[in-house]
Amino acid sequence: MSKNTRVPGYMQSKAARNTRGIIGDREIRFKCSLQNTILDVLRGRPGWQEVPGPNIQQQNSQQNNKPAAGSQTSTQPQDGKGTKTGSTGATPSNTQNTPATSGGKTGDGDWDFYWCDREWLHQNYDTMFLHEHQKILHFRNHYELTRKNLMVKNLKRLKKQTEREQGKSEGLSFDFHPTTYELPSEYHIFVEEFKRNPGITWIMKPAAKSQGKGIFLFRRLKDITDWKKGEYQPLTDTTREVPETYVVQRYIENPYLIGGRKFDIRIYVLVVSYNPLKVWLYRDGFARFSNTRFSLDSIEDAYVHLTNVSVQKNAPDYDPEKGCKWSTMRLRQYLTAKHGSEAVKKVFKGIDNIITKGLQSVQKIIINDKHCFEMYGYDILLDSDLKPWLIEINASPSLTASGKEDYELKFGLLNDLLNVLDLENRLTGKEKRIGGWDLLWDDGPVLADDGNMECTTNGTSVTTANSFLGCHNDRKRQLREIYTSAQAIKKT
Ligand code: ADP
Repeated sequence: MSKNTRVPGYMQSKAARNTRGIIGDREIRFKCSLQNTILDVLRGRPGWQEVPGPNIQQQNSQQNNKPAAGSQTSTQPQDGKGTKTGSTGATPSNTQNTPATSGGKTGDGDWDFYWCDREWLHQNYDTMFLHEHQKILHFRNHYELTRKNLMVKNLKRLKKQTEREQGKSEGLSFDFHPTTYELPSEYHIFVEEFKRNPGITWIMKPAAKSQGKGIFLFRRLKDITDWKKGEYQPLTDTTREVPETYVVQRYIENPYLIGGRKFDIRIYVLVVSYNPLKVWLYRDGFARFSNTRFSLDSIEDAYVHLTNVSVQKNAPDYDPEKGCKWSTMRLRQYLTAKHGSEAVKKVFKGIDNIITKGLQSVQKIIINDKHCFEMYGYDILLDSDLKPWLIEINASPSLTASGKEDYELKFGLLNDLLNVLDLENRLTGKEKRIGGWDLLWDDGPVLADDGNMECTTNGTSVTTANSFLGCHNDRKRQLREIYTSAQAIKKT
């Protein structure tokens, strides 16, 4: 999109420009650490100007990743979270989410908006002064939710607190993550649990790695004892001072299958504030399928059990033309046709619960800062009873497109994210829907406008949540409407 192209509903009238906020009637200056869809979105946004810097210039000379229609950038990671804090796993395969400005000091006040990488934030946040108008991606300690071990620890803590304050039955609403232990610290408790459940399958995952790296399944304690000897003996690896933290988790042995294949669902969630908690949920997302039919006979086969695209694209029979994704809308339609709308509403309500409980579990821990926002990628797996399970939460979900459809999804998602942040001050701040984002939580649950009453089985009525995951995303029309209406309100 060229600089002069209008985004739907973008008001370029003088009156509209005069309504700009703290930035005033000038261009919005941005920095961006990534060379994928987000950079295209920022560069294409009218009135936004890239701030040149040593590394940004480097980026300019490189091709961005916008794929040609129908093309596949199959060598790029699909869920590359880059290297998490404490991780040693930086490999060439995650360069698309690798910082271009990492390590380079950027002037504190020369940008209004910075899509930075987590490493940059870790290195600079504590010594950085942010001006009133500046917005930056990531909260300081986002890892409280995005490291596998910490996420589970925080969820367990909130569950206990809820049980104490509201009773055991309320605690049941937290039963959405598989039983998990941190290794090596909880090894002995895990062994007790292991012995209580003979024959079941467990999955081992490095706490701070991504893209399926270092993951394996096992059924015998011997397998983990061998791993223990080889993998995390502190003395055998002189470069590592402490054993790498893993989580061991009960493997979901009965995933919901479509065409005999397992999948998980990627969901995008935007947090603009932790105090009060304000959360937006994007309507679109996708299901990522494994390439090989599911079977519990071959637990050593990653192509059967791990649905990461970064794993699946290396499968011998992977077809880049077909890919392995379905849109969430297609998935919702499929499930509705098969199980009826009531069953599917229950599934999506369960997902809403997972989203909000996850964020509440760290609400008091995350260092809230009005300059920060976070876009999470939640990974949810359905089992054969249609129960949604939380697998993990990513703070840097891949923004690299795997094809035309994926590019359109991510372009719309990110453009609407900027519409929600509204640095141009074109909206009223009271909107409950902005493009494809619906306001799910605003210091409490947000209810849908239509006032639909949903009848529960015990005869009581509840209003519908403002949640439309997998529903039709007519974002352009909706943006036109809200911008016109906001303009009218601002004029009066
Ligand atoms: P990574 O951060 O390396 O992607 P994940 O925790 O997301 O690690 O796991 C990778 C994949 O493994 C998931 O996408 C899912 O398909 C599968 N998986 C992970 N945990 C489980 C589990 N407990 N039960 C079933 N499948 C799982």
